[in-house]
Amino acid sequence: MLAHGTVRRAARMEYTVTMPADAPAVTALRRIAFLLERALEPSYRVRAFRRAADTVERMDAAELAQRIAAGTLEQLQGIGKVTALAITEAQRGETPIYLRRLEATEGQPVEEGGAAIRAALRGDCHTHSDWSDGGSPIREMAESARALGHEYMVLTDHSPRLSVANGLSPQRLREQLGVVRALNEELAPFRILTGIEVDINEDGSLDQEPELLAQLDIVVSSVHSKLRMPRDEMTQRMVLAIANPYTDILGHCTGRLVVGKGRPESEFDPEIVFEACRQFEVAVEINSRPERRDPPKRLLRLAVEASCRVSIDTDAHAPGQLDWQIIGCERAAACGVPLESIVNTRAAAELVDWAASRRSG
Ligand SMILES: [Zn+2]
Ligand SMILES: [Zn+2]
Repeated sequence: MLAHGTVRRAARMEYTVTMPADAPAVTALRRIAFLLERALEPSYRVRAFRRAADTVERMDAAELAQRIAAGTLEQLQGIGKVTALAITEAQRGETPIYLRRLEATEGQPVEEGGAAIRAALRGDCHTHSDWSDGGSPIREMAESARALGHEYMVLTDHSPRLSVANGLSPQRLREQLGVVRALNEELAPFRILTGIEVDINEDGSLDQEPELLAQLDIVVSSVHSKLRMPRDEMTQRMVLAIANPYTDILGHCTGRLVVGKGRPESEFDPEIVFEACRQFEVAVEINSRPERRDPPKRLLRLAVEASCRVSIDTDAHAPGQLDWQIIGCERAAACGVPLESIVNTRAAAELVDWAASRRSG
């Protein structure tokens, strides 16, 4: 009996010495997984956190400390950049920022958070009229936006290469600028801001004359062609467009469709793309269209993590669709998007100044 008890004690001692079972990182990673599951995140995303927790739990405490100090956690299988940061923060005695953001939105009904964001929005930065593939004249779109309480609407009809959507040639866009100018005199103080949803060409250039882009208040740049490009090429293509001084907003970044037979997300390195957005001060669009809901929440959380600016837009092609913004607002609330990072909480003049300063500087 005595011998047996000794063995048990020895085993217990060994357990406490080599296994940091109560490592704060393990608890934090599992809590993150739990909250993501409850938020209906895809299971592979949740698995990443559980796998990282298992890896840490199996590790020797000394090795864990040494790897944190040396920054080599990511060399371990199952640990990536996001999980490595969470582990490091937790082992320092902090609540990981990823977890803090999740906890901040926990308990608060998403509808309430979404409504608060919606109330703070002063305009919509992505709309179409019957000049391209929208169903209604500019005036009707503008009057509907005004009726919804907006102070402005950015008119972003398509660029020439999107011929299926009746994209505007340089000449037609110039003509549209005149029409908008006249309408603005009538509709003041409401403002139609001039803009475009410009195609990001396969080589990362933008599908409109630079001198024309320079005249527009806001430029939304989007990928509409060759969505299945290899990951590295797509990353490069997007980063080039983001680095272009005329790009203000990156439209529906994955191009996915989640309704009907759907369309898979384009593949790119989101950490590189969002870091580029942060550096070049390009806002990541939250596209509210029900069939898009782009970016997916896991990517939106990454964009928040990267301190990106955000624009919550409807991409409305008809007046009733201008009221879809709440869909994007709820997604923003669920992912902890800070209000001050949302560019369309700004007044029109401020928004235009922001875009102009990016181009000159
Ligand atoms: Zn688009
Ligand atoms: Zn659009």
